Amino acid sequence: MIENYSQLKKEFLEIKENIVLRDYTTMGVGGVADLFYIASDVVNLSKIIHMAITLKIPYFIIGGGSNVLISDSGFPGLVVINKTSNILRIPDSSQLIVDSGVTINRLMSKIVQEGLTGIEFVAGIPGTVGGAVYGNIGAWGQEISSFIQEVTILHPPKSQITETQIIRHKVSWLEYEYRASKLKKLYKNLPPETQRPVVLTVKFGLAPASNDDILKRIQECQSKRSHLPKGKSCGCIFKNPERNPEKSAGAYIDKCHLKKTKVGDAFVSPIHANYIINRGNARATEIRELIEKVRHTVNNQHGINLEEELEYVGRW
Ligand SMILES: Cc1cc2nc3c(=O)[nH]c(=O)nc-3n(C[C@H](O)[C@H](O)[C@H](O)COP(=O)(O)OP(=O)(O)OC[C@H]3O[C@@H](n4cnc5c(N)ncnc54)[C@H](O)[C@@H]3O)c2cc1C
Repeated sequence: MIENYSQLKKEFLEIKENIVLRDYTTMGVGGVADLFYIASDVVNLSKIIHMAITLKIPYFIIGGGSNVLISDSGFPGLVVINKTSNILRIPDSSQLIVDSGVTINRLMSKIVQEGLTGIEFVAGIPGTVGGAVYGNIGAWGQEISSFIQEVTILHPPKSQITETQIIRHKVSWLEYEYRASKLKKLYKNLPPETQRPVVLTVKFGLAPASNDDILKRIQECQSKRSHLPKGKSCGCIFKNPERNPEKSAGAYIDKCHLKKTKVGDAFVSPIHANYIINRGNARATEIRELIEKVRHTVNNQHGINLEEELEYVGRW
């Protein structure tokens, strides 16, 4: 493997070694990545993933790091931070083609500038378009998948005799469900050596509207978030078992009196029971232990099996 690492480093001189990943996640945890690369455009992103596949180096892509819990042991391979940033409006249309590394925040500025409406409800959610497509982010009863038309994906080879392919898929290919896509269903929590598809670009179908109205809606969505817990977190830990707010994951956790429960520096937020906050130097193992504790308690007391929205990354 050392030889393969050297070969990759020869091709990509900006690769760094032994970088601590906690600085690239909103939870503020995660050990060291053997190799670390920041991809600033889609060509480089595709090239480095392609080469990692060829050299059989495990790889993992991080956008905003807002929905991952990275192991204290880090990642045994290449971690790519996705900073691809192009946004293109298709002329005479209401469609945007957006690189997967574009942040939700920047996408919001762009829709105001272009006078395109539809996805304002995601305003204030951290992360990138790639993470949003992977996890079908949503808020206030709406989901991003309703506005996605196509995605371009780099697929690793399916067998020894096939090649890496870049394919443009219609949205139906992603088989969207609540907080899940086909990609998330197939690849969530798999071991580091799993070769995963990488979303390169996304086509959104929006509608024309006045810039002021769009900005107003974005500001309304942002201000509705002001009551959410502050601090280092991944947002909601568990998916809601039902849409009914009285049967949300947070409501069950609250009914079990688990708010403020802690393991090390990790604690269940007293403001929103489905948030776990790292108040300092929590370790990934402590956060995971707390997640398990919450899940078991809710299961014992209410017979509900909560499923994580976030994903465990690295070697556990
Ligand atoms: C304070 C806070 C509030 C939040 N509120 C909400 C909310 O209201 N609604 C909601 O739905 N979510 C919410 N989240 C969760 C999170 O922001 C979203 O899931 C976000 O879309 C994750 O994007 P990311 O770029 O940070 O993904 P990451 O955490 O970097 O990655 C998550 C997964 O996506 C994969 N991935 C990322 N980019 C790509 C790509 N280009 N190709 C293939 N796979 C990729 C990663 O490999 C990983 O498996 C919140 C999080 C926080 C911290």
